[in-house]
Amino acid sequence: MIHKNFPMVPRVIFGRGSFNQLNEILAPKRLNIDAPFIFLIDDVFKGNTDLTSRISLSYDDRIIFISADEEPKTSQVDKLVEDIILNTKERPSGIIGIGGGTLLDLAKAVSIMLTNDGESKSYQGWDLVKNPAVYHVGIPTISGTGAEVSRTTVLTGPKRKLGINSDYTPFDQVILDSDLTVGVPHEQWFYTGMDCYIHCIESLSGSYLNTFSQSYGGMAFQLCQEVFLDNNLSEIESREKLMMASWHGGMSIAYSQVGVAHAMSYGLAFLLGTKHGIGNCLVFDHLEEFYPEGVKLFKQMKEKHNIILPKGICANLSDNDFDVMINIALGLTPLWENALGKNWQKIITKEKLKALYQKI
Ligand code: NAD
Ligand code: ZN
Repeated sequence: MIHKNFPMVPRVIFGRGSFNQLNEILAPKRLNIDAPFIFLIDDVFKGNTDLTSRISLSYDDRIIFISADEEPKTSQVDKLVEDIILNTKERPSGIIGIGGGTLLDLAKAVSIMLTNDGESKSYQGWDLVKNPAVYHVGIPTISGTGAEVSRTTVLTGPKRKLGINSDYTPFDQVILDSDLTVGVPHEQWFYTGMDCYIHCIESLSGSYLNTFSQSYGGMAFQLCQEVFLDNNLSEIESREKLMMASWHGGMSIAYSQVGVAHAMSYGLAFLLGTKHGIGNCLVFDHLEEFYPEGVKLFKQMKEKHNIILPKGICANLSDNDFDVMINIALGLTPLWENALGKNWQKIITKEKLKALYQKI
């Protein structure tokens, strides 16, 4: 048996107000005055001087505001990289992503593509990246995806939604400042938080589970229960705990995998552009058969936080549309193998998947 040898985020700072230390963290990483730091920031923070005034720009440093309305695309990454290459004198000293999973993944992908030739779509998959990425920093402003700690950056390409999974993907530095998550809208808080909860359930009930994944998954699960079910946390505690739940949930799937909800949610995202958090919730709501206890708790959480999921998302789709989603979902072999074991193809058929999608 060959055991996987995973990289981890080598430096992390945790605590309210830790974002104030960003400038001193970056200073020693500046290669020279022609090699700027590029900040990729969710455009929800445009005009938010509380955040931007704390970033001190020197020399050719630059902020690029990016909308998170759509999830990252390979073409978007390639364009950003081209823009950065054209507008900087030298390869940047660092890429800093500030935002949710969308911005964190963009920062990871851009830092990889600055040192690797060709188009980002050719690196979607496992261990295809050849050269180490540019120094990159992740600063989450919403908690749940685990993108701050994971070894992947999920991109939608022309043919598939698939991560660039590599040893060079994880951030070199992460800043966990839960005060940055203060303004997250209630429903978005729930959807992205549920991404973490679903990571736990899929990891903990998967066939790939080992003690490493189980211990992180158990911690994340416990924290999610405190945040979403128990009623005794202050808002500050709740934000801090969800931030750590996200981290541990991400660590849990390093050695294991996600499962049915993620596979199906990728299908929805590819065809309809449904975003990850809500997509997972839409699917998970119908997965009692695979995750009976997990779905029961999920429904309680939904009710407790007055979340009403949209209905009829797949109502007007053609047979061809269903086929597209089903093929995307079934293409994710490791997810199915984790969820259902080696004989997964006997358990999940195209017809079964279609029936599930039709319920959404
Ligand atoms: P997101 O980054 O798409 O953001 C969701 C919404 O919240 C956006 O409208 C954004 O502007 C807003 N927002 C973020 N922070 C805010 C703040 N502090 N105040 C107000 N609004 C704020 O959401 P997400 O759920 O974090 O990320 C989803 C993405 O993460 C998907 O693209 C998914 O594929 C990816 N993902 C990656 C991994 C990984 O390991 N790399 C894991 C899971 C999901
Ligand atoms: Zn997820």
